[in-house]
Amino acid sequence: MLYHIETFGCQMNENDSPIIGDLLHSLGHQPAGEISKADIIVINTCCVRETAESRALGFIGSLKHYKELNPGICIAVCGCMAQKSDTAEVLRKKYRHVGVVCGTFAMAQLPYYIEQYLSDGQRIFDVEERYDREDIQRDKHLSESDNNYKAQVNINYGCNNFCSYCIVPYVRGRERSRKPQVICDEIRALVAHGCREIQLLGQNVNSYGHDLEGNWDFARLLEEVSAIEGLDRIRFMTSHPRDFSHHLIDTIAKLPNVCRQFHLPVQAGCNRILQEMNRGYTKEYYREILAHLRENFPDATVTTDLIVGFPGETDEDFAETLEFIAECRFDAAYTFIYSRRSGTPAATMPDQVPEEVKKQRLQQLMDIQNPISLAQNEKLVGKTLVVMTEGPSRTNAEVWSSRSEGGKIVLFPAVDGLQPGMLKKVRIEKAQTWNLSGSLVE
Ligand code: SF4
Repeated sequence: MLYHIETFGCQMNENDSPIIGDLLHSLGHQPAGEISKADIIVINTCCVRETAESRALGFIGSLKHYKELNPGICIAVCGCMAQKSDTAEVLRKKYRHVGVVCGTFAMAQLPYYIEQYLSDGQRIFDVEERYDREDIQRDKHLSESDNNYKAQVNINYGCNNFCSYCIVPYVRGRERSRKPQVICDEIRALVAHGCREIQLLGQNVNSYGHDLEGNWDFARLLEEVSAIEGLDRIRFMTSHPRDFSHHLIDTIAKLPNVCRQFHLPVQAGCNRILQEMNRGYTKEYYREILAHLRENFPDATVTTDLIVGFPGETDEDFAETLEFIAECRFDAAYTFIYSRRSGTPAATMPDQVPEEVKKQRLQQLMDIQNPISLAQNEKLVGKTLVVMTEGPSRTNAEVWSSRSEGGKIVLFPAVDGLQPGMLKKVRIEKAQTWNLSGSLVE
């Protein structure tokens, strides 16, 4: 049968969807190419922000007519939104054209539920929070078509941090680390399929291993992964500053194929707000980690996440954040307006900030950060960077896009013989806020 996967949300979901595809493929199903040809439609959902949830529900609703015209198909909903009990109930009662609802804990079972539904037409709901499920062993499901030059690999699931604004611990459960052997086997299989770059993924990669026997931690896992032959680049995300240790930084310094790219979400630059967010660190602590990072890797790319308009954030609190951002000089900051998620402590906090104020603050933040991003990129003009080629740029086929070790987009004029996943040298000639451009160096 033919399948189509529609993905909403974050990088975790972007990573999970190809895994679902691999699992379906291993049962003999093929990608449909377009949704109108699909017998199986999987909607991998997100509920981190209200807009992501509304968009996913809107999309699922739009499939009702398609199901009426094609009663033999299966529409399956998985991901964080499916795990959220109130939304799963809405899907059960109001979206009767959905055949399978499968939470984050049951992802490995999803293809089998789909097969079961296709054979007997009985709706299946599995949204139970269970920690005894088997892990997906992707190396056993890789298809011949999985020859991408880069891939993402989950190293841990769930989160124990309970930041007061975040729904993730409620829908992805407590932290559990995948076994190092399983991770390394998966990476070896990907490398055998042509992969040159791996991004290790987790809600908090830095706390990897605390639940495993044998003194595992993230630094030790990086050492193991780094030793896998044929792997040119290793990246990871997301890091929690509280668990980003000096030991980790010192270990990375010894591993040349671990990219000097660090995404270290600060979320706010005001201690009172950080405390209300339950982030578990102060700006002084963050400043110290950043200094140690830059001492070891002066040319590293450092990016961050920031939330504006957290409940109770005053003009003074926000001014402190602006000052801190100006001081940290990040290469880029991914900025978000606080989105109220029911079930989280912050949703019921007093003094919710009006939408208009949030929008103004977001603009103020970007007005400070964007010139810093540009200045950080301008420092690279005249330098030669090693880049990994990605493919023709979206707007001009005569220009190729690539990524520097620091994860920056580098554009250069195309030449014959380029393939995605090649390491090339580019001399940087021009810097913009979001990318760099230059010429290939022989
Ligand atoms: S660390 Fe905080 S923001 Fe990140 S997933 Fe966990 S609870 Fe959410």
